[in-house]
Amino acid sequence: MTEVSERECVTLEELKKKMADFARERDWDQFHSPRNLLLALVGEVGELSEIFQWKGEVPKGLPDWKEEEKVHLGEELSDVLLYLVRLSDICGVDLGKAALRKVQLNAIKYPVKLNNDDNNNNKSFSESD
Ligand SMILES: [Mg+2]
Repeated sequence: MTEVSERECVTLEELKKKMADFARERDWDQFHSPRNLLLALVGEVGELSEIFQWKGEVPKGLPDWKEEEKVHLGEELSDVLLYLVRLSDICGVDLGKAALRKVQLNAIKYPVKLNNDDNNNNKSFSESD
């Protein structure tokens, strides 16, 4: 079941349901506690980090990367996303709504004018604060 259809959009809700079905069919719900899922997520972030480790800065779009490296990157990004979706589901958090709310909060915290001033002064900030 590795065939992937060419689709325009995949929703978080669809991923959430697929992950829930996947776990239920394998009787893995017993292992999917919030703590276990968080640790699995952190492990996958580590695997994602390994891909960039020792490469130094890489240009956007990864123009010098081999196709198999990009495929591997897509797999590890997916592992992170899928555990994040599963963790939020198990915790009863609507990830899509929470993310949209966070974007709104960030927009308040970092108004456009301030952001442009910061860029002009070559300051950096984190959207995840
Ligand atoms: Mg992985």
